[in-house]
Amino acid sequence: MLNEVYDIVVVGAGPAGLSFACSMADNDLKVLVIEKSPFKVISKPSPDGREIALTHNSLKILKKIGVWDFIEDSEVSPLKEAKVFDGESDSLLSFDTNKSSIEALGYLVPNYLIRLALFKKASQIENVTIQYDISVVDVKTNPSNANIVLSNGMVIKSKLIVAADSRFSEIRRKMGIPSMMKDFSKVMIVTRVSHENSHNQTALECFKYGYTLALLPLNGNVSSVVLTVSTDQSEEILNMDNEKFCDFASEGFNNKLGAIKQIGDRHSYPLVGVFSQKLRATRFALIGDAAVGMHPVTAHGFNLGLRSQDILSNSINKALNSGADIGSDNLLREYENKQIYLSKLMYFGTNGIVSLFTNDDAKVKKIRQLVLKFANRFPPVKSLITKHLTESKKSNLIPF
Ligand SMILES: Cc1cc2nc3c(=O)[nH]c(=O)nc-3n(C[C@H](O)[C@H](O)[C@H](O)COP(=O)(O)OP(=O)(O)OC[C@H]3O[C@@H](n4cnc5c(N)ncnc54)[C@H](O)[C@@H]3O)c2cc1C
Repeated sequence: MLNEVYDIVVVGAGPAGLSFACSMADNDLKVLVIEKSPFKVISKPSPDGREIALTHNSLKILKKIGVWDFIEDSEVSPLKEAKVFDGESDSLLSFDTNKSSIEALGYLVPNYLIRLALFKKASQIENVTIQYDISVVDVKTNPSNANIVLSNGMVIKSKLIVAADSRFSEIRRKMGIPSMMKDFSKVMIVTRVSHENSHNQTALECFKYGYTLALLPLNGNVSSVVLTVSTDQSEEILNMDNEKFCDFASEGFNNKLGAIKQIGDRHSYPLVGVFSQKLRATRFALIGDAAVGMHPVTAHGFNLGLRSQDILSNSINKALNSGADIGSDNLLREYENKQIYLSKLMYFGTNGIVSLFTNDDAKVKKIRQLVLKFANRFPPVKSLITKHLTESKKSNLIPF
């Protein structure tokens, strides 16, 4: 049964909203999460083909909020090496863990199992209520309180609203926060395959001419194939029979994996990037994709979303300890200042990579080969990226 007053209302029980709810477990705040999907969609998420590459920092946060314990070890695939190819060239840029004591650059976990783990943890927390099958349809905030209106007409008062309602956030729009959108006019197609030869826990990113093909190594001789094509080619690829699709993928990886067999469904995602110009308003904060919706090529979206909720929840817990207002402008400004710089760097950096590596103009091809060769031969660039990947405090980069 819903009450009319909570301390915090979270809009959306996706990975970002539920992570934030889990971060509220050890305080006395009354937290309400509103989710428009039915209970069964959130409590039993279906496989969606996404394999999420988690940084060391994300792992640390998931452990801290008690979610990692709900993920089976056998579902976690360590990523030991990553290689980038351009056109038909040999690998031009590579990253590995050889010269360090760490086990992996990052860890791959299926998205639906992360969502399941988040659901399991969040639904055990006493001070968190999750309401399904109902939407937030309006939002109004002022210096003393924040109100949401639900699709059943109910009005709920709180001290702070946290919007985690996807990159196409309606709530962001209702709060008058502008965002930039970039339609890449590309579709990402993902599926699981098994193959004859070992992938050696090495991710491959092949910027082919006309399309991009990536391989994410999972446990055993199993990988996720990630194919990015222009929207007008996507139907043809989605409708290809399995044999033809596997031949296409196998050739794309220069037949190094031996025979390939598709073992999962093919899922497709239209690619649209979104960058919100502000992460806050009066008694209002944006987290997850609602704050920054990344192009998945650099595998940052959820990592950045986890980081955003971690910074916000740390500020809230600090305010609680000192008796300060959990929805104050100062607190929200502190959150925005800590998150926006890295978000900008990731978002615009990723879009820059996408522009450089998906433009097949002869001059641009030359430039990208030079960039890759330079990055590979100039140790500070490689060590900076590897360090970001593996240092738990600062990490947020996966190099593909
Ligand atoms: C193919 C692919 C691969 C990816 N790989 C990686 C990766 O390797 N690493 C990585 O870090 N990230 C990756 N990502 C990104 C990652 O999946 C997303 O960043 C993450 O899922 C976003 O979570 P979210 O909770 O912010 O948003 P969403 O998952 O979009 O959740 C939003 C929720 O809000 C609910 N909602 C919306 N509006 C309302 C409303 N008005 N009222 C109530 N509820 C509402 C929705 O029903 C939904 O449940 C990938 C993405 C794709 C597409």
